[in-house]
Amino acid sequence: MLFSEIVYGLIHSRRLGASLGMNLMPTNGKLCTFDCIYCECGFNQPFAHPVLPTRAEVREALECKLQQLQTEQVTPDVITFSGNGEPTLHPEFEGIIEDTCRLRDLLCPSAKVSVLTNSTQLGREDVMRALRHCDNRILKLDSAITTTMRAIDQPVNKQLTVETIIGYLQQFDGDFTLQTCFLRGTLPDGSAVDNTTPDELDAWYKSVRELRPKQIMIYVIDRTTPVKTLEKISREQMEQIAAPLQAEGMDVIISA
Ligand code: SF4
Repeated sequence: MLFSEIVYGLIHSRRLGASLGMNLMPTNGKLCTFDCIYCECGFNQPFAHPVLPTRAEVREALECKLQQLQTEQVTPDVITFSGNGEPTLHPEFEGIIEDTCRLRDLLCPSAKVSVLTNSTQLGREDVMRALRHCDNRILKLDSAITTTMRAIDQPVNKQLTVETIIGYLQQFDGDFTLQTCFLRGTLPDGSAVDNTTPDELDAWYKSVRELRPKQIMIYVIDRTTPVKTLEKISREQMEQIAAPLQAEGMDVIISA
């Protein structure tokens, strides 16, 4: 499923409410530093020269949409950067976030500005500044064990480790939402993948307790996935996964 516009929706998000989506990536294929086996946008497109919208085009598209919604007396709960890949890859991401917050203040001040990111670009100062400027940073950690993270997320940088990602997340001192997709199944090479085993959960709980995010979103696959041999985790098991953290007073949202 690809988004054909810079601004899309409103869509009712399982996790976010009435969401106005922002797509900074190409409209003709996914561009991401991960290639998650469950990605709803499919696999990465091998772009030679990906065409991204300019900062001015994004600003104009958002202003036009927010004015239209204002006329219709519709207010989004959230303006969400997600779309066809990793939004922080856009070279003008910081400026686009500044423009978005300014337009939000003018045209729909109650809406939050949120970014769904795979966390891989958090070593860049401009991305960190932009994410700190937003209301919500929703940061991915699908496994706290590197081999499993690589199996599920298929990072383009084959050297990427969980320790690097966790180091990036620590920079926010807990002022972020952690997102984890739980799944099990088999990869195209026939090997098993499962981030719900006792060892996986032990490692994940340990990382969550160290990071202390203000909120944790755990979710299951919901739509068609590029790897077809994946299994949806049951609501009951998701509640069991959340329970120990909820018992410690953490805010855990389950989408299952
Ligand atoms: S990080 Fe997000 S956009 Fe990138 S491959 Fe994974 S699910 Fe898709």
